[in-house]
Amino acid sequence: MLPRPTDGVTIAENLERVREQVARSVQSAGRSPGDVRLVAVSKTVPPDAILEAYRAGIHEFGENRVEEASEKIPELRKQVGESTSGPNVRWHLVGHLQRRKARDAIALFDVIQSVDTVRLAETLSRQANAHGKNIPVLLQVNVGRDPQKSGFAAEPRDAFLREVETVLALPGVQVEGLMTIGPLVTDAEQGRPTFRALCLLREFLAARYEPSDWRELSMGMSEDFPVAIAEGATIIRIGRAIFGERPH
Ligand SMILES: *Cc1c(COP(=O)(O)O)cnc(C)c1O
Repeated sequence: MLPRPTDGVTIAENLERVREQVARSVQSAGRSPGDVRLVAVSKTVPPDAILEAYRAGIHEFGENRVEEASEKIPELRKQVGESTSGPNVRWHLVGHLQRRKARDAIALFDVIQSVDTVRLAETLSRQANAHGKNIPVLLQVNVGRDPQKSGFAAEPRDAFLREVETVLALPGVQVEGLMTIGPLVTDAEQGRPTFRALCLLREFLAARYEPSDWRELSMGMSEDFPVAIAEGATIIRIGRAIFGERPH
């Protein structure tokens, strides 16, 4: 059971523990501390708790639903802008995006981590161009071919590469790397092959296309981030270990 802020543990204390674990994982992997960024996944979390995390030093947040985000993000941008002169917050969309919400998503988010089809990328490209924007995205890969998950299939490889090339050619959409969701397992170690496969896929793509486009590897959540860091994650997406268990 993860600690909950409501059990007398504060978000700042949770964050402290997560940061220690991240630092240990980074060190034992022989990586540099600056190599791994923490995105706090604040879905279902009310704005005051998000502000608490911001004050504890978190500047990147993730949400998974456009409707929820459209209520929270503008309010938080305003509050953060008013209450501090500190760094601005970056918002990541980490959940499946329906194409009809692409326009709203581009207006709200700084990064879209969950680009899971060519058609979605094409819609984002059109909307980004219409708004004179260039939106950073990650390609979500369904490494384990889990029917419950969305994402590109990396095999057959030639079909996947055709899809990647189509996305890379789209104006207004800047591919920065890959994202995956690990399998739901009882032991975090069981997620290692998935993370390793995503890392190898990134190396393959970076060797083949512009390497600068493939720097990000978003993988690892509350239960499995140390393993993801060991396998090369540059972004980890942590919700419950910071904010406590979500309501069901
Ligand atoms: C909810 C969510 C997370 C965070 O999961 P926790 O188990 O709360 O750390 C990370 N990534 C995605 C895509 C999510 O939907």
